[in-house]
Amino acid sequence: MSKIAIIDIDNTLWQFSDPFYLELKKINRNFPTPDQWFTSDIWEGYCTEVDFIAAINSIHHNQDSDRYKPYPESQEFLLSLKEHGFHIILASHRMPTTRQPTERWLARHRLPYDELHLSLDKTVLFPKADVVVDDAPRTLEKAIESGALGAGLLFPWNMAYAGNGFGLFQNLNEVLDYIRKSSSGKRWQSQ
Ligand SMILES: [Mg+2]
Repeated sequence: MSKIAIIDIDNTLWQFSDPFYLELKKINRNFPTPDQWFTSDIWEGYCTEVDFIAAINSIHHNQDSDRYKPYPESQEFLLSLKEHGFHIILASHRMPTTRQPTERWLARHRLPYDELHLSLDKTVLFPKADVVVDDAPRTLEKAIESGALGAGLLFPWNMAYAGNGFGLFQNLNEVLDYIRKSSSGKRWQSQ
């Protein structure tokens, strides 16, 4: 039976925070820059939560824009997981109505995967997960609680959680190394 890797999209396969900041700056030009995003409620004092969510949705509905590029390592990262027997579920916290632009973006950039899960609660997938890659600290904590290996890219909003049982790294090559060296990795090498 193949092992299951659940891989986030935003701030995992591409730098969502950059276009997000540009959207937020349209709402309030004083919005802090992403290097100051230390919590998940960064809109407080700058815009309403409704505006904040609308900005997220507008990017997701335009996911297939020419401006939105995956990280250079993303394709190779997913290919390596696949070659080593992982069943890849891309899981993004986004509206199911954004499926078409999301699928077009994945196809355009040749990002391989087996399933695409778009919902507002990806943790429903975690009981069957061997590996979860995500940048949201709460999500990684839930992955660890479910017994999965957790890892992600290091950002201001998760750096305070480093050392909480999951690995945070500078790029996806380092995430891949971490997965390979983990206990799940040992199982993968023995196959
Ligand atoms: Mg993310």
